[in-house]
Amino acid sequence: MINSLQNLIKVSEIEWIVVDGNSEITSAKDSWILEQVKVSTTQFISEPDEGIGGRASYWPRGKVIGGSSSINAMVYIRGHQGDFDDWEAMGNTGWGWNDVLPYFKKAETSDQGEDEWHGGEGPLHVTTLDRDLHPLCQNYIRAGVECGLDYNDDFNGVGMEGVGLYRNTSKGGFRMSAARAYLHPANKRHNLTVMTNAHSTRILIEDKKAVGVEYVRHGETHQVTAAREVIVSAGAVNSPQLLQLSGVGPAGLLKRLQPYDCNPPVFLQLNVKCVLIVPARSHDLKALPHPARTVRVNHQWHHV
Ligand SMILES: Cc1cc2nc3c(=O)[nH]c(=O)nc-3n(C[C@H](O)[C@H](O)[C@H](O)COP(=O)(O)OP(=O)(O)OC[C@H]3O[C@@H](n4cnc5c(N)ncnc54)[C@H](O)[C@@H]3O)c2cc1C
Repeated sequence: MINSLQNLIKVSEIEWIVVDGNSEITSAKDSWILEQVKVSTTQFISEPDEGIGGRASYWPRGKVIGGSSSINAMVYIRGHQGDFDDWEAMGNTGWGWNDVLPYFKKAETSDQGEDEWHGGEGPLHVTTLDRDLHPLCQNYIRAGVECGLDYNDDFNGVGMEGVGLYRNTSKGGFRMSAARAYLHPANKRHNLTVMTNAHSTRILIEDKKAVGVEYVRHGETHQVTAAREVIVSAGAVNSPQLLQLSGVGPAGLLKRLQPYDCNPPVFLQLNVKCVLIVPARSHDLKALPHPARTVRVNHQWHHV
């Protein structure tokens, strides 16, 4: 759907708000760069895309400790069981629903306690939103039921269809970002350095092996080498971008980028397809561009 990730690299900084931050921990021998910037949202705008009627789409990303989990809407709804099973059926062993459910449970502390579907001791706190709700919310749900939709009291339970209240990732009325869940508890570790305001520009590769990271901080370029491994977790847009800048990516694209390429290219043909569900209102459904006319019913995609 997006012509190429390169099209997304037109970045405009729209906002710089400190939503989280960490004082720097220095003198670590075995340091990990876990997070590079401490503020802001980055707004990516795609190239106009035929699939959505020639329009450009807007892709905000959290440029902050905790990444997009520090700016997101906190809705806690897991992927559809059928999707995981489809991925497994496509040959991705270990990605079936029964394989991933234990990890979802391991990650979660549900405020309703542990059961067949939910974890009780994980770092990510998940809260039920039935307290302090605006009365209109219940009216809205009742209206859905009156229209014939099933009431669903848990979208992460037996089934995902229906109308009901979702849960969110929060604890004590505050956002439970990935940083709060995972990074803050690890802050005291001696082998952890969190470096903010540092932008990774490429992965250092020797003999087709990642051996370190180059990053720019306060206008200066630095390199850090890895004793064991480099983990790239820059998100769905920036991870492949960073790989491409490091000479790892689709062969055709890398050949076009050759003048900028510092590493010997490692060609990799990616075949990533995206599906967007676009909420839309129209007097003439058939006039909508293709993606808006694709709906999912009982695990099946239908084109209307
Ligand atoms: C506005 C919005 C609302 C959302 N709402 C929900 C929701 O309600 N529920 C839900 O489940 N999901 C939601 N999401 C999606 C969810 O937040 C993301 O799927 C999730 O955070 C992705 O995690 P990630 O670790 O893959 O990437 P990210 O969270 O994007 O983290 C990537 C990190 O890498 C850093 N980075 C990127 N490039 C570089 C570089 N070159 N050098 C240094 N650092 C770099 C970024 O600053 C960021 O900290 C929402 C997302 C957005 C943007």
